[in-house]
Amino acid sequence: MKKKYILALDQGTTSSRAVLYDHAGKIRAMAQKEFRQFFPRPGWVEQDPMEIYSSQISVAAEVIAQMEIHDNMIAAIGITNQRETTIVWNRNTGKPVYNAIVWQDRRTADYCDQLKKEGFQKTITDKTGLEIDAYFSATKIKWILDNVAGARRAAKNGELAFGTVDSWLMWNLSNGKAHLTDISNASRTMLFNIQTLQWDNELLRIFDIPASMLPEIKPNSTFFTDTSGLIFSSKIPISGVAGDQQAAMFGQMCIHQGMVKNTYGTGCFIMMNTGNKAVRSKNRLLTTVAWQLNGGTTYALEGSVFVGGAVVQWLRDGIKLIKSAPETEKIALSVENSGGIIFVPAFTGLGAPHWDQQARGMIYGITRGTTRGHIVRAALEAIAYQSYDVIKAMEQDAGFFIENLRVDGGAAANNFLMQFQADLLQTKVQRPLVLESTSLGAAYFAGLAVGFWENVEEIENQWQVEKTFTAKRKPEEINKDMAAWHETVARTLQKQGYQL
Ligand code: ADP
Repeated sequence: MKKKYILALDQGTTSSRAVLYDHAGKIRAMAQKEFRQFFPRPGWVEQDPMEIYSSQISVAAEVIAQMEIHDNMIAAIGITNQRETTIVWNRNTGKPVYNAIVWQDRRTADYCDQLKKEGFQKTITDKTGLEIDAYFSATKIKWILDNVAGARRAAKNGELAFGTVDSWLMWNLSNGKAHLTDISNASRTMLFNIQTLQWDNELLRIFDIPASMLPEIKPNSTFFTDTSGLIFSSKIPISGVAGDQQAAMFGQMCIHQGMVKNTYGTGCFIMMNTGNKAVRSKNRLLTTVAWQLNGGTTYALEGSVFVGGAVVQWLRDGIKLIKSAPETEKIALSVENSGGIIFVPAFTGLGAPHWDQQARGMIYGITRGTTRGHIVRAALEAIAYQSYDVIKAMEQDAGFFIENLRVDGGAAANNFLMQFQADLLQTKVQRPLVLESTSLGAAYFAGLAVGFWENVEEIENQWQVEKTFTAKRKPEEINKDMAAWHETVARTLQKQGYQL
């Protein structure tokens, strides 16, 4: 068994990836394939469910071919996926009745506003831990039932199935045998009650969705189904499933209460493990299920920064101030500080804890002495400042301090940024050896279920830090910087205007 591999399928928003992990948790092969995005109208985002599946299968085949192994060398399959994206298909034909409606799709925003006006916010937030938003699956399912000819009738007759992408992949991999999901994906649908840990009948009534459409919910690390023999020649168990951010958190081994991970990608996705308590936020962070393992449920607080690494993209592609993302590290270090420049990249408004959709970006403090280095440095600092604000909001909500921050994602490669983050938070920032936390988490869940790894402790012991950043600057200095940051953020807010 220990000589075998775990195959992790990481079905992301823009690409499908497959990664083969060995018993030491090391990557042995990896393949990635992008697929098409459709934007039929402003604010609409769709994908072709068949292409999601075929791209995922083709990268799985690619890693098996790269390793030159027979697929009976795969001990188990783990699945992680873009969350909330909604697929409805016909149980008899296995064919989708409409394209996948992607989490970014805003077509149901007006309906969400209407629900808020009708006073549903409290009921829905209390039950689901989520804000009423088009982001989550419920209103997307309703849209399909209301707008695809014959869909509602077919649903009432029990002919239609709903699933997030994990369900869709398992349905296909099992040749239509399994209609399942895991608890972390379920908790992003806005139909799942995070207290009772079941689909909620009242929510189903509000959204007018027949219960017969829903998949059965399972814990994250258990036997789900096996491959049917259509694509794989062996029957391989699928035994680990989790939504991408939850999988990343597990891949980072943030398994104790108070541990936090930040994924520095296009945006920053921050999650705090709050143990067996569903902590309610006073700062409009989301409460969500992290995972269910060995009979226990772990909850998390979640907050995102809209523009993280994307500010670096903008420097490169938008104003062409830099040639590549990695060179920002050297440029930032070429100046002693940001020369008084504060950059608030509120390109698409500001999220938690400011919550202002109308806020717009600002580069403040420009003088004759301002250089390219100052602006680049201020852009990187802004990624850390914004993450700081979310993390502090989490600490307030949770009532305890973070011990360390575990990081992954493309921009986590930037040493300047990581050091600056450690200084701001006055805590340790740990960057792991395997930066593919998302697929690693799915592999861990799958491997634990089949005894490939004995227990979580074994994994925790083998999980390795590549580099730890510790705070070097004094708290007084940081407080001064933070005050300047918050003053500038206030200037960008449109909501209340600003006050000095
Ligand atoms: P996503 O999964 O959201 O596409 P990735 O985790 O691949 O994102 O990270 C890519 C983002 O990180 C891009 O926005 C890019 O500008 C930024 N980035 C990549 N490398 C660096 C670097 N060395 N320093 C700063 N930012 C970086």
